[in-house]
Amino acid sequence: MAASRLQTLPFRGRNRRLIAGIRFASSTTSASNRNWIIHPSGTDVANDEVARLAASPRRPLTLADLLKHGRPPLSKDALLASANFTLSLLPARLASRIQALRNLPFIVVSNPHVSKIYDNYLHSLSTLLPYQQRQITTLEEEHQFGDVLADLVHTHANTIPTLARGFLECRKYVSPIDVTRFLDTHLRARIGTRLIAEQHLALHFASQPINEDPTEQTHASARDSIPSNYIGVIDTALQPARIIRLCEDFVGEICELKYGVRPRLEIGGQPEAAFAHVPVHVEYIITELLKNAFRATIESGNEREPIEVTIAAAPDVPGNEHPIQEDADVGFQLNSGDDTANTNEAIGYSTPSSQSITIRIRDRGGGIPPEVLPHIWSYSFTTFSDMDFQGSENGNMDALNTISASGGHLSTIAGLGYGLPLSRAYAEYFGGSIAMQSLWGWGTDVYLTLQGVGKID
Ligand code: ADP
Ligand code: MG
Repeated sequence: MAASRLQTLPFRGRNRRLIAGIRFASSTTSASNRNWIIHPSGTDVANDEVARLAASPRRPLTLADLLKHGRPPLSKDALLASANFTLSLLPARLASRIQALRNLPFIVVSNPHVSKIYDNYLHSLSTLLPYQQRQITTLEEEHQFGDVLADLVHTHANTIPTLARGFLECRKYVSPIDVTRFLDTHLRARIGTRLIAEQHLALHFASQPINEDPTEQTHASARDSIPSNYIGVIDTALQPARIIRLCEDFVGEICELKYGVRPRLEIGGQPEAAFAHVPVHVEYIITELLKNAFRATIESGNEREPIEVTIAAAPDVPGNEHPIQEDADVGFQLNSGDDTANTNEAIGYSTPSSQSITIRIRDRGGGIPPEVLPHIWSYSFTTFSDMDFQGSENGNMDALNTISASGGHLSTIAGLGYGLPLSRAYAEYFGGSIAMQSLWGWGTDVYLTLQGVGKID
């Protein structure tokens, strides 16, 4: 097989299938003793290339990294720098996920859903490598790269439900502890990888020049619709109360469809509180927590009792400043100051007024039974079972069967058992937390603390 094929690929991101075809053709016409992984669509990457990338030292990502290219619209140089920076990070991260998937028991990797995800990662890696090796030096290349990256991000949109299905099908062969350990690492790493890709994409689209060419109008209008307080995917003036109202609408509609009622939600405390954060992360967490609260409230027959949300911004305490950095696969971590606890080099991005906001969601849904409590943070654990669904075995499969085609939020009220563990992964990514306090027989309080992602001027 041609070892040089990765270097010689043209920048033809718009037509991935064509590239795959070219690679496949070249891989069948030359010989090599190297061990290749052949992707079903024809893309391939050498095993040792994956191993080398996965083993390459990964500099912890910092918030400063995400913000250093500045506010859009970016200059040409800044846009190219952002693209090349993105390319310097993604391949090693993808390779590390490929390695982790490979290390799963054979019976799990051979499951069609798990192997689909494996193929997606492999495909993404082989698509990005030629760009990484050539570097992006012109706006045209950057434009093509943006399209390729958007395509790759889209390819991975369904990862969670697909992996969930795969692991459900393999549940007889792997222990829930092993599944949770794998998924936790995998999904946390995925948060960071998507963040890197989406940050560049947001800067890319927000930096497109206004063009008379009608095909460019989507980019121009996408840019014009982005509020000025955004830096890429970060909203520097994010008001959790506004997101809560949006999520309330969404979850309320699901409840009306499923139960015919929608509980009320009251917001108290400091609804005006704002900080810098990633809106899609906050939206994910709040949606999942509201689904749980709404479901419990209705199923316990207390739908007349409002869900009380209290928002509290932590007071700014001088000296309470934390460097923030990403810990390889885990996410951004507040540095405890204990260097020995940190395997990564200290980066020391300082968040001078990284305000934290705590949101308490209080429901009158009867609380969580003590025998259920120890399991709520496990992936796939659910007490939901949709009896409306004929032949239903358990809630998980029903939830999987009703996943929205967009691959985004699940349109079911519950059932996948990923809501809490994944919300916690998102919250912890920037040094936040989720704590549950169940008053069995009465209701549940959830304390969601989110750490603002630093002071951004
Ligand atoms: P899912 O909602 O898909 O079941 P989650 O991870 O969101 O998965 O929640 C796991 C389980 O925790 C739920 O099935 C439910 O039994 C319990 N739970 C979570 N939040 C609440 C709540 N507010 N009140 C009562 N039980 C809850
Ligand atoms: Mg849930």
